[in-house]
Formats: sequence, structure tokens, C-alpha cells
Amino acid sequence: MGAMIRGVLILLAVLSGVPQALAQPSVKDVRIGVHPDKTRFVMELSEAPRYRVFTLPDPFRVVIDLPVLRWTPPGNLVRAGEGGIAAMRFGLFAPGTSRVVLDMTRPMRISNVFVIPPRAGYPYRFVVDLIPVTRAAFFVDGRQPFVSDPPLAPPQTRLPAPTKPSRDNRPTIVIDPGHGGVDPGARGLSGILEKKITLDYARELRRRLLATGRYRVVMTRDDDTFIRLRDRIKIAQEHQGDLFVSLHANNHKRHTIRGASVYTLSQTASDAEAEALAAKENKADIIAGIDLSEQPEEVSKILIDLARRETMNLSKHFANTLVAELGKVTKLLRNTHRFAGFAVLKSPTVPSVLLEIGYLSNPKEERLLRSAKHRARVIAAAVRAINEYFAWQRTLKRS
Ligand SMILES: [Zn+2]
Repeated sequence: MGAMIRGVLILLAVLSGVPQALAQPSVKDVRIGVHPDKTRFVMELSEAPRYRVFTLPDPFRVVIDLPVLRWTPPGNLVRAGEGGIAAMRFGLFAPGTSRVVLDMTRPMRISNVFVIPPRAGYPYRFVVDLIPVTRAAFFVDGRQPFVSDPPLAPPQTRLPAPTKPSRDNRPTIVIDPGHGGVDPGARGLSGILEKKITLDYARELRRRLLATGRYRVVMTRDDDTFIRLRDRIKIAQEHQGDLFVSLHANNHKRHTIRGASVYTLSQTASDAEAEALAAKENKADIIAGIDLSEQPEEVSKILIDLARRETMNLSKHFANTLVAELGKVTKLLRNTHRFAGFAVLKSPTVPSVLLEIGYLSNPKEERLLRSAKHRARVIAAAVRAINEYFAWQRTLKRS
């Protein structure tokens, strides 16, 4: 899941695992200054950056795209609400593009963006000024992007090329580590981020599936990068996936709640909790600063009806198999198999389930989720469930 606003002092941001760190410009400091007439975002950098800065409505956000930067942001950078900024996130958005997303508490427009060369002991200072405007003014003239000269290269889209050798009849399993890059997902009690846990689990699942020799495996991401929800679906479809498994870790304000749970797509949620969870997980694109109004019609309006009944029945069958195997190795949430309108499960042709491995808000479970031993047990159970599911498929085809 991913909460947009959490607590009073917030900084949802960690940059990790960036290769070629030495070649990248680095961030020395970041601050947000509140002035009577404006809010000023300042980033101190080792060199002058190329940039693209723009705003998005509903919810109001400022998006700052920069080259890949070396930066581990400090905590407590944003005082929620001060200067109209509720929260800040930073991370990789796409190959070659780092992104800062500022959540605004009210409409503001960018009044100026500029770079101050080094002087008076300061390195390069990259400055974004924001001024409050009415909602109406925001839509009339508040949305012009500010772009450096020369401009920042547009974000590269990097989807794995579909290659299914015609002679290879093995099923293709698409593993989808939830969140990534500028979208950290849930934050554990120890500070660990959901995007890290999901990638660790996904890599272990891939390793163990490949070791059986029975499957082809595709990952929607294999590093700390953001992937749009619709691209996750697209990857599964282009690779003609036979099964799509999205991995997540949950959190809850009640720290006593723990246990794994498995979700499949449904127009009507099985319960209020499942519905709230789907709403949270579906916010990933908003969290990463995506303009949802730009989504092509056929994607934003994917109808659940399109998900063929057969696909949904297969998804349910696999979910039940997975719950049975998980129950042998880990604690389960009550009513473990639940239903809700998760965007990432809307592939019309690929049976899809979403596994919430456990709760990062429960101290005991958070420790388990970080342990390699527990991960091995859970993933072994998932592999057994996948084996059983495809064995069942083969008996169906024979009969
Ligand atoms: Zn999640």
C-alpha cells in the first residue's frame, strides 16, 4: 500500500541501489522555505541540473524531474501543511530520470524556476518558487511546465521485450514486485520500505521458479524503479503470461493486526477493508506524479467485464491454492482470500492475484518479513501453489 500523508513530520524518500554512483551529480541539501508571498523549494547540487517542473491537479502536486542524482534524503524535511506542502517523495521515476513529488494542500502555481551558480560558499542552487492561486486560476494558467535549456531528456520507458520462443511451451509466470522508485509503498516500523521487501520476495520467487525448470519468468521490475500500474498489466499481456502474481506488504494503524492475505479482482469488494486496501494500492500512479487525465481511454476505463469470466475463475482457483499452501508456513489474515477492484489485477486474459505477504506495522511480522528464513518459507509455499495450479491445469486440458 502507499499512504500519501503520514504523521506530522514526513519524508517518504530513500534512494538506494543506484549504479555508477560516482558519475552522478549529488544533492548536498534540500530545504523548503515559507515566505509571506511564496513557498520556495531549494536543492543544493554539485552541478547545474537539467530539469522539467510541472504541476498536476486532483490531487494538487508539483513534479520535479531531474537527472539521476546521488542522494539519501534526511528525515523531517517537510512540516506537513507548512507553505502548502503536505509531503515530499524522491526516487527513481524511470531509467535516467529522478523525480521529486511535492503533495500540495492547496492549488499553487510555479512562478519561477532557476539555477544560482556557486557563490558565497554555496554550491549550485536549484530553486522552484510556488505561489498560491485559486482552483480556477490554476486551471486557466497555472499548469505551464518550466523546462531547462537544454531540456532534460524525456523519461525512457523500458518494458522488457516480449520474447516467447515458439517451441517453449512452459507456462510464463509474471512476477510483479509492488511499488518502486518514487513510490515507496508502506513504511515498516524499522524504516524498511515495502518496495524493498516486494523486490526481495520477487527475486527469490524468480530464483526458485527457474530452479524447477518448469517455467519462464518475467519480472515487471528488477530494480528500484517506478512502473505505472498500466505498464505492469501491459508487460503481463505482451509476454502472454499464464499467471500474474503481484507482491505487496500491508500496514494498519492497529499494530496488533498481522497475517498474509490474497486478493483477486472483483467489481464489488468482499469487505470494507479489502476495498480500502485496493483504493490505497491503486494510488501508486498518483503518488509517483502521474497525470491520470492523460491515460488513454482504453486503459483508464478498462472494464471489469472485459476480464473474462474464465480468467477470473482461474485467478480464484489459484488464490485458493495459494492460501492453502501459505497457511502451512505463515499466519493468515481471517477470510484470507478477499476480493476488490485492484487496478493491477485487471488483465482480461492473464489470471492475476495480489499477495499481501504480511503487515509492516506489526513488530513481530515486520521482523519476519525482513528475515531470509521466513522469506524462503513463504516463497517455497508460493512455488508449491504454482506447481499445484499448473498440474490442475494439465488435468483440465487432458479431460
Ligand atoms: Zn502495496
